[in-house]
Amino acid sequence: MASIYIETFGCQMNEADSRYIADRATASGYEIATDPALASVVVLNTCTVRDNAERRAYGRMSHFKALKTADPAMKIVVCGCLAEQDRDRMQTLAPHVDAVFGTSDLVRLGDALAAWRPDFVDDEASEARALLRPLGGAADCVTDGYSHLRAFVTVQRGCSYYCTFCIVPHVRGRFDHRPMGEILAEVRSAIAAGARELTLVGQTVNAYRDPAGGADFADLLETVAALPGLERLTFVTSHPKDFTEKLARTLGAVPQLNPRLHLPVQSGSDALLRRMNRKYTIAQYEEKVGWLREHAPDCVLTTDLIVAFPGESEADFEATLELCGRMGFAQAFMFVYSPRRGTPAALWEQIPPEVGGERLRRLAQTVDRGIRALHRTKTGSVVRALVQGPSRKDPAKLAAKTLENITVVVPDAGLREDEVVARPWLEVRVDEAFTWGCTGTLTGIAEHFDGPARPVAGPAYDLLALR
Ligand code: SF4
Repeated sequence: MASIYIETFGCQMNEADSRYIADRATASGYEIATDPALASVVVLNTCTVRDNAERRAYGRMSHFKALKTADPAMKIVVCGCLAEQDRDRMQTLAPHVDAVFGTSDLVRLGDALAAWRPDFVDDEASEARALLRPLGGAADCVTDGYSHLRAFVTVQRGCSYYCTFCIVPHVRGRFDHRPMGEILAEVRSAIAAGARELTLVGQTVNAYRDPAGGADFADLLETVAALPGLERLTFVTSHPKDFTEKLARTLGAVPQLNPRLHLPVQSGSDALLRRMNRKYTIAQYEEKVGWLREHAPDCVLTTDLIVAFPGESEADFEATLELCGRMGFAQAFMFVYSPRRGTPAALWEQIPPEVGGERLRRLAQTVDRGIRALHRTKTGSVVRALVQGPSRKDPAKLAAKTLENITVVVPDAGLREDEVVARPWLEVRVDEAFTWGCTGTLTGIAEHFDGPARPVAGPAYDLLALR
């Protein structure tokens, strides 16, 4: 049987795209392979946001070359931002790649998959397969037994803001907002397929404008949240420039919205924000966070931070440390600046890597203090968290995410996968807090976020210890 293996790098846009590819493939009769060596088609969904991601993608292409030599019928496909950026270069660097699809070519990729599957019959069975979603696990969690519990719906592609460090507008193009009607139809089918948490995805998601009716992002959130059967709703990534008081009010007023906001600040220095072309000042950022605190006080704030951006002085960097101290971010994705070909900042004088590394370490210490403080507030409480699947470190444990996106890990209490998938909301008593998340005890499993939980007995070794 034809099978497809999908490996995903980068952001949630790519994750959403990979899910689209998986759906198109299964609708065309493919099975999802968990091992590239067993697949008839291998898809590498790439990212260019950092140099490291680019190098890893080329590394994986070399690795897949050996598989292709062993099985020349295997097709290797590269898609995503690197495919868009390096379309021509890739033919020289990785001539064994069969096809390259840019970020706007996903529909064509789906068509190609159907064409490569010679015995595909467009019958009821294949339609049912598309709805069933594949089971079986994959390296990137695009398709495992739990993946259908979370759905990602792309509401907008591209970005028109041209931050001086960012490759996205160059490879994904300017804003292209999807009509709200299309988005709602996709959300409805995700709910019908079992999604419990829905993430609206866009590079600058809160700049969304419905091209048909002019509704803004807050309107979209309210409309999506009102769809029958939707349990939890969230979104990434917001731009501070477009974060309005109306959106802060919506976050506080719509009960289905998860209490979290990812609002990348990038730097605590106005001078650096200007060089980055971020279109806001720190005072404006803090004013917007003030709206969040006022209208949605339970909402946690997460961010992205870049250190050693060209021109960053020690004083600029210390302004970032101070900002982090004031904000108490619940999570921060921190990077040493990495020049991207084709962006203005790549041409500027660079800061030595050892300075970047040292600043990153200091920043992580400051940010981690805030994260640990938040996680400690959870100890002793009982939280509901949506299961992700077996913990990567210990498969006898289950990992789940709270509404704030905090990882909680619990012993699996001997539950079967189908029991957990049917009741994916874990009721967890949080026992201990760490920087990465929390550990706890599983006390119940619930079918719905708001519904009753079925109690779960403690693991067998606990019962033995009580004797
Ligand atoms: S807002 Fe800036 S960082 Fe974000 S996608 Fe657009 S250009 Fe890139």
